[in-house]
Amino acid sequence: MSKRVALVTGGNRGIGYEVCRQLAANSLQVVLGARRAADGRRAADALRASGCDVEFCPLDVADAASVSAARQIVEQQYGRLDVLVNNAGIYIDEDQSAFDVPLDTVRQTLEVNLFGAYETIRAFMPLMRRQQYGRVVNVSSGMGAFDEMGGGSAGYRLSKTALNSLTRMMANELEGTNIKVNAACPGWVRTDMGGADAPRDVATGADTIVWLALLPDDGPSGRFFRDRQPIAW
Ligand code: NAP
Repeated sequence: MSKRVALVTGGNRGIGYEVCRQLAANSLQVVLGARRAADGRRAADALRASGCDVEFCPLDVADAASVSAARQIVEQQYGRLDVLVNNAGIYIDEDQSAFDVPLDTVRQTLEVNLFGAYETIRAFMPLMRRQQYGRVVNVSSGMGAFDEMGGGSAGYRLSKTALNSLTRMMANELEGTNIKVNAACPGWVRTDMGGADAPRDVATGADTIVWLALLPDDGPSGRFFRDRQPIAW
């Protein structure tokens, strides 16, 4: 059987880049999605230089035409998609009050973090259904969990709450198939988004995401995980 193929959105830096590295280390063929070609190529070249099987694919998740083009590229090049990691995300309303944040900022956040993931899953699901195998990992955050809900960053929180909801819905619709949809919180990770004070390195942040991407057939679906343990929605 040919190698399993994984697509990682926002794979050019941060957690996404490390997920690409770890998936390749687990012998998957990795497609590194990035919205800026120069950044994506540079990242894929660096991973290939360290022995990883990684190819760059242009992918702006907030642009439906770009998502559709990426699906065509993956289908033509590999004829399959086994793993989809919806990692691309923005956090542009950090600490802003829900009462003050411009609604355009909230909309922009939903466009990437929610609709970007939604569009990408819908584009690639036919490939997974065709082969009756798939692992979708939605990179969420405890900031979107009702259980941990606080104030501030309304757009970001809403986007991740809705992404969690989408995870449940899709897993429900896929019940009885070997296509699993789970959400993961990487914890607070040292990246451009997480900042220098975050306690976790990218390897730790990527671990649960990669674990979910490689779940065996009897693994869970429709759940939310951190540190490989289920957490409350
Ligand atoms: P990051 O360092 O800021 O990287 C974000 C990535 O998303 C970049 O590759 C960025 O591409 C990409 N991206 C943004 N908008 C995109 C779009 N429209 N299309 C395609 N790619 C796009 O963030 P990170 O810390 O690695 O976060 C990765 C994921 O983990 C996010 O979903 C985030 O919400 C989640 N998360 C992070 C933390 C944390 O502490 N870091 C905690 C909880 C959850 P460009 O380089 O082109 O901007």
